[in-house]
Amino acid sequence: MGWDFSPTEEQQLLVEAVRRFMEQEIFPHEREVERRREVPPELGKQIQDRALAQGLYAYNMPAEAGGPGLDFLSVTLVDRELGKSTWGLCRWMGRPSAILNACTGDQRETHLLPAVRGERKDAFALTEPNAGSDAMGIQTRAVRDGADYVINGSKHFISCVTTPDFVVLFTVTGTDETPKGPRKRITAFLVDCDTPGFTLQRGPRPVSHRTYHNYQLSFADCRVPARNILGEEGKGFVLADAWLVNSRLEVAANCCGKAERALQIASEWAATRKQFGQTIGRFQGTSFKLADMATELRAADMLTMQVAWKYAAGTMTNGDAAMAKIFATEMCARATDHAIQILGGMGLMDELPLEMLWRDARIERIWDGTSEIQRHILSRELLRPLEG
Ligand SMILES: Cc1cc2nc3c(=O)[nH]c(=O)nc-3n(C[C@H](O)[C@H](O)[C@H](O)COP(=O)(O)OP(=O)(O)OC[C@H]3O[C@@H](n4cnc5c(N)ncnc54)[C@H](O)[C@@H]3O)c2cc1C
Repeated sequence: MGWDFSPTEEQQLLVEAVRRFMEQEIFPHEREVERRREVPPELGKQIQDRALAQGLYAYNMPAEAGGPGLDFLSVTLVDRELGKSTWGLCRWMGRPSAILNACTGDQRETHLLPAVRGERKDAFALTEPNAGSDAMGIQTRAVRDGADYVINGSKHFISCVTTPDFVVLFTVTGTDETPKGPRKRITAFLVDCDTPGFTLQRGPRPVSHRTYHNYQLSFADCRVPARNILGEEGKGFVLADAWLVNSRLEVAANCCGKAERALQIASEWAATRKQFGQTIGRFQGTSFKLADMATELRAADMLTMQVAWKYAAGTMTNGDAAMAKIFATEMCARATDHAIQILGGMGLMDELPLEMLWRDARIERIWDGTSEIQRHILSRELLRPLEG
């Protein structure tokens, strides 16, 4: 246990720079892209170019991978700011999968560095139609054939800000006998989307982050060289676990930013909107909601930053990350819902970003592991040492 995560002067300057970026490059486009339900590619490219010019692109990547090499608390602070808008826009600022840091040898030149420079887009392809929470249930198979692997199967809900250039694909490459019985060997591959046998099409559109694309992937005798294995054969879940923990903290930080923006909109409204001859903030039914939102937001911020600090210190457990995701995502759902209530009918109109924040908040309890799965992870960590 320990607490030292107050922002340094450098971190404060970074947050101010990202806030300026959001004000200038992201917020002005929200209403238009939400109404069109699409981010025009030239707008995405413009956001990307300006993020690159300001050194913000791939802000999560270390210096040895060509990124800015920010400490993890700084990355979390940036994630918090980006949570204030929708991923269809913000993800153009670039946040390649941290899992790409496992690239070695030529993979660095072909996949990692181009992703960090914004030249190639990556996607993380684990989920399948019959394997969501039960990730071990994946059925996509990769069978060794000489110097290659031949891949067959399908994935869905695979998201990216635009059509990806390559995916980190999780496959079954065999079975291990363990004391608890047979266990699938899961192997991750870097698979370029133009590989013969690989087809990709847009999936159904979710209500959350609705300008952020998701894809269905199919593999029919898709041949990939063995050198495209990311990490070691059979060790795909070791990598996936590390990536998911990282992204769960990102989700928690996003939710704190989103709730802060909702609280700000609701507070301004409550302080100026009059009914029955007085501002609605004078009614306890409104003002107490604001007090609860602010209290829960502070608690979520503290928890998220403390877990990020533990991550940086190398002491974070999977249960810590689960705790931050559960609390921040559920806080965000309550905060955006309260904010809508405070605005009344106007809260639901697309004149304001509130309904977008409310819709976007919904998915945060589902992707990167549902709230139930987070509770499973956390409760196992609590109970396992006591069960003998
Ligand atoms: C828009 C979108 C984008 C996504 N992007 C990606 C991506 O880029 N890459 C990727 O790999 N995946 C992605 N996902 C998949 C996402 O991670 C899964 O949707 C999530 O893990 C839940 O899986 P599922 O939807 O199949 O639900 P299911 O696993 O079918 O779960 C349904 C319900 O059952 C509950 N449940 C299941 N098992 C248990 C249990 N043991 N105990 C208690 N409750 C349980 C769940 O909590 C949930 O409430 C994305 C999903 C969406 C919707």
